[in-house]
Amino acid sequence: MGRNDMTSTPLRARLHHAWRPFRESGRIARGLIYSGAGVIAGFLLLAFAGPLLYPYGGTQYRVETEPGEFATFPELAPPSAEHWLGTTKDQFDVFARIIDGATIAFTVMTLAVSIAMVVGVTLGLFSGYRGGRLDRIAVTAMDAVYAFPPLVLAIIVAFVLGAYVSPGVVSATFAVGVVYIPQYFRVVRNQTLSVKEEPFVEAARSFGARNRTVLGRYVFFNVVQTVPVILTLNAADAILVLAALGFLGYGVQPPTPEWGYDISQAVDDVAAGIWWTALWPGIAIVLLVTALTLVGEGLNDVVNPLLRARGKAGRKLNAMPRLRRARRQDDAERLAARVRDLRVGYRTADGPLWAVDGVSFDLRPGECVALVGESGCGKSSMGRAMLRLMPPGGVVHGQVEIGGTDVVTAPESEVRRLRGERAALMFQEPMTRLNPLQRVSDHFVEMIRTHRPKTSRDEARSMAREALVQVGIPPTRIDNYPHEFSGGMRQRVMLALSIVLTPRLIVADEPTTALDVIVESQILSILERLRAEEEVGILLITHNLGVVAEACDRVAVMYAGKIVETGPVDEIFNNPKHPYTRGLVASTISLKTTELRSIGGYPPSLVDPPQGCRFAPRCPYVMDHCTRRPPELAEVGPEQRAACFLYPGAGQPVPYDVAVPSGDPQVSGI
Ligand code: SF4
Repeated sequence: MGRNDMTSTPLRARLHHAWRPFRESGRIARGLIYSGAGVIAGFLLLAFAGPLLYPYGGTQYRVETEPGEFATFPELAPPSAEHWLGTTKDQFDVFARIIDGATIAFTVMTLAVSIAMVVGVTLGLFSGYRGGRLDRIAVTAMDAVYAFPPLVLAIIVAFVLGAYVSPGVVSATFAVGVVYIPQYFRVVRNQTLSVKEEPFVEAARSFGARNRTVLGRYVFFNVVQTVPVILTLNAADAILVLAALGFLGYGVQPPTPEWGYDISQAVDDVAAGIWWTALWPGIAIVLLVTALTLVGEGLNDVVNPLLRARGKAGRKLNAMPRLRRARRQDDAERLAARVRDLRVGYRTADGPLWAVDGVSFDLRPGECVALVGESGCGKSSMGRAMLRLMPPGGVVHGQVEIGGTDVVTAPESEVRRLRGERAALMFQEPMTRLNPLQRVSDHFVEMIRTHRPKTSRDEARSMAREALVQVGIPPTRIDNYPHEFSGGMRQRVMLALSIVLTPRLIVADEPTTALDVIVESQILSILERLRAEEEVGILLITHNLGVVAEACDRVAVMYAGKIVETGPVDEIFNNPKHPYTRGLVASTISLKTTELRSIGGYPPSLVDPPQGCRFAPRCPYVMDHCTRRPPELAEVGPEQRAACFLYPGAGQPVPYDVAVPSGDPQVSGI
């Protein structure tokens, strides 16, 4: 077993790691937690050791002096050596009732908060994750419960349970518990809605994680961060509600000791100048509530690692990757991907639209095809559709064949197996694609064992180390958390996750966006090696034509949901045919650039795209028939095709009076 395996890590180091959030929290937060926890510990000692040490019980009003001889306690005796905090008018010992009242308070508080937490968290998690009708029903029900003032709701529940079951500790517990269910539900549901859209959850799905894995490991553990805070704050509230119920006579029934009830019985005593019967239960309530609140507030600063992770400085980059020599066993003759008439649609507030509208292309093993175009032209939608990772409400039509599976029509279980194993999606925004609560090793082990359940944990870690080495990350970093890596290293970790199961296809969506040129070059080198040595087909989605020139064989130019030109990189850069491609190439900045250029106008709305050529409103060569029907992709050169009526085969003969463009297209200067 390797030196860096968790199983061989010294216990002290592991404890050190586990307590890091606590250490990193501020001094004030730690002070709050320490002081609150000290008071709570004192009350716990009182509740559970007190009955063993103090000679009287909370419902005891006499003591046996001789066998068979009893002496009753004095009525309303002030504090003394015999009755430390005095006695009540019912001749009970006040300190004994404080002790037993603490036991009741902790019991009711623990059970009530546990009931609220289990029901609220479970319901909130499923409701937020599943959405739809279940969510609407649950939200309506919880909103209705939440609308009641807590004490009124607790009284109603205690009254009903008292009438139909029995009044006492059980009904008080449920009454207090029901009050807090909506709080857990609302917080957990809202966070689930947010976390399930997080990039690292989408990334987990892209690697083929099952729904229960995503819900359990990715959503639950990120959502559950706030539960301890709510729990401690609710516990403080629960003590107050219990006391209020007792004060009003709806809670724990006499003679069982309960602080709120005891205060209600002492109201007349205060008016008569007898202070000790009300003061001590009051102090007990205030102290315990304050202590629980302090712990809750302190935890609030400690338990959120997402916040702590922000602002971490980046780390130095590592050496360039060492090449792995093992070759894939797949049949190189088969296509890495075959896309036919792919359509990707969404419903929007303005109406339905097709972000990708009838796209077809092939991707061969070992080939890198660049998908370029302006923002919003459908590139990322197409990348996600290739692994059927659509946002809610997105629809996919057509055919995407990867390794013999039609991703569009295959059952979800089959597509899930394919993700990560046969095809991987590498996202932009590497800073947010890894679960901040999991070590890098956990990401690898989980993904590998999802696809290959028989792989042992040690084997999975070994595969992970090998993949990390391939992307130039020292294997000693395997147990680091994502926030301990720089942006470039995280992107390389994502790349290592993409290649650890040696997929035939990688869809890389802006993999170098927001990275500096050195890291960009490293990522591109790794992709280049993967396709050259392991015959991985790569679809590189980018708006950066410089990256395309460096890394790709072929280019597909997208405009307004359609491919308008495809061809070898050299032809596209040196001899672009479609006016839009010409505009794109002319807009590229190089060392020879003396004037910044852009294509005039904006892409059309895809809710209501132009009937004919979608580029017509911006095209300097537009002709009458361009606006009547769309041009088709036609051969315009060796392996080069363009959808433009300026070239034969697009559906209309070339107009005799229009010259095929040469030189720079008309572009507007900035
Ligand atoms: Fe321009 Fe017409 Fe070609 Fe469209 S089809 S790019 S409008 S010339």
